[in-house]
Amino acid sequence: MDMPELDDEPCEQCGLCCRIFGPGITPTAANVYTWIENGRTDILRWFAANRDDGSRVPCIALHGEDLGNIVSFEMCDPETGGFVTVCPFLRRVSRERYLCGIHSVKPEMCCTYQPWVWGETFFNRCPALKKAGNSCRWPL
Ligand code: SF4
Ligand code: SF4
Repeated sequence: MDMPELDDEPCEQCGLCCRIFGPGITPTAANVYTWIENGRTDILRWFAANRDDGSRVPCIALHGEDLGNIVSFEMCDPETGGFVTVCPFLRRVSRERYLCGIHSVKPEMCCTYQPWVWGETFFNRCPALKKAGNSCRWPL
């Protein structure tokens, strides 16, 4: 969601996908590296990393050279260490419109989330897909 306003951009910024799937997003190592390099502690604090030895570390404590030992990332509450129920980066800007608060550096899986493109994430509740008659288009 929350792509630039392009003529062929069908996302209606309803935020439904983010509200449902947002707490389960996982960044790539490249995403985390970018956040580390740019000092984005506001983002890093919401993720934990699992090392190949089975230990877990908050992403905010990572350095770029640590990433080679990380096998997965997951979102977690920085206060409790537990699960989150709403993506902390989702911003409601009007009654029916939502934007991503970290749009320019959001996780790759959010960037490629296009239910209206054939072979991408299937989400039949996406209004943009419904508007297209539930007919996916081929990737451009
Ligand atoms: S559900 Fe569809 S229209 Fe709504 S924000 Fe997600 S991709 Fe955009
Ligand atoms: S990071 Fe942004 S695009 Fe991804 S789920 Fe959260 S609000 Fe949505």
